[in-house]
Amino acid sequence: MSLSVKEILNIGRRQLEESHIADAAIDCKILYCFLMNVSSAQLILEYQRILPDSLCDEYFKLLDKRSAGVPVQYIIGTQEFMGLTFKVNESVLIPRQDTETLVEDAISIIRENKLRGEDLLPKKKKEFDVLDLCCGSGAIGLSLASLCDNVKVTCSDISQEALSVARENAEKLGVAKKVGFECGNLLVPFKGKFKNKKFDLIISNPPYIKTSVIPTLQKEVRDHEPMMALDGGLGGLDFYRGIVADAAGCLKKSGILMFEIGHDQKDAVSALIEETEQFEKITCHKDLAGRDRIVVATLAGKK
Ligand code: GLN
Repeated sequence: MSLSVKEILNIGRRQLEESHIADAAIDCKILYCFLMNVSSAQLILEYQRILPDSLCDEYFKLLDKRSAGVPVQYIIGTQEFMGLTFKVNESVLIPRQDTETLVEDAISIIRENKLRGEDLLPKKKKEFDVLDLCCGSGAIGLSLASLCDNVKVTCSDISQEALSVARENAEKLGVAKKVGFECGNLLVPFKGKFKNKKFDLIISNPPYIKTSVIPTLQKEVRDHEPMMALDGGLGGLDFYRGIVADAAGCLKKSGILMFEIGHDQKDAVSALIEETEQFEKITCHKDLAGRDRIVVATLAGKK
């Protein structure tokens, strides 16, 4: 019972729709392109092609995983972020589009010392030593290493499994020479072993969802993405609190601290930074959807 590509795509779409997969029409094509290693442009030229039974069976296996709620990125093993292809698996969060806004702001700071068109630093910095804390797949730090010439990046995470994904991504993106890796809890490794290690920019998209909200997340996220990358504790602020406590000590002169935040965390995260009395120019910026998404602060000079 061999089927044409068009026929199996229709079967695929219907099966995913019946399983209430939101992007059924897109996902059935992504899975086909992954299986056959063709681009979406090539796919259009293949509609009439008859597929042998063995390939149909392979395709149906992929569909079954998607129907069961496995995110399409974990099935195909990649996610595009900042125009780059990142390997992902269930040890790392799937990089989100919202986070691209954070990376774009960081690129503008690194390249031009400007944030949203405004000068940010009292004195121009040319080279940036960047720390991506809670790096997961390395989406943030490795994008900066790929897209900026004047950076050295350290990617750090508490999960060895996540770090091995980030390491692989650094190799694949050809930036391994500019990137170091560290396994540990937030800034602890940099306070101890690397006592003198200070950065120009600490950037982080830490886990920030309140524990009580986790059960209400989409089932796909809840059942497949790593809980340790999502759960920010009772008030969702545990990781910000931990990072902020040690950040000043790990920053060079006029060093910058930059966070992705949940849309309702602007005041709480800004207050945590404010309370240290070590930062100035604490600002919040929105994502493309107009929601508060990024908090930036500069290490204050000695009074
Ligand atoms: N930094 C990674 C990302 O933005 C992982 C974030 C996390 O694990 N909380 O995708």
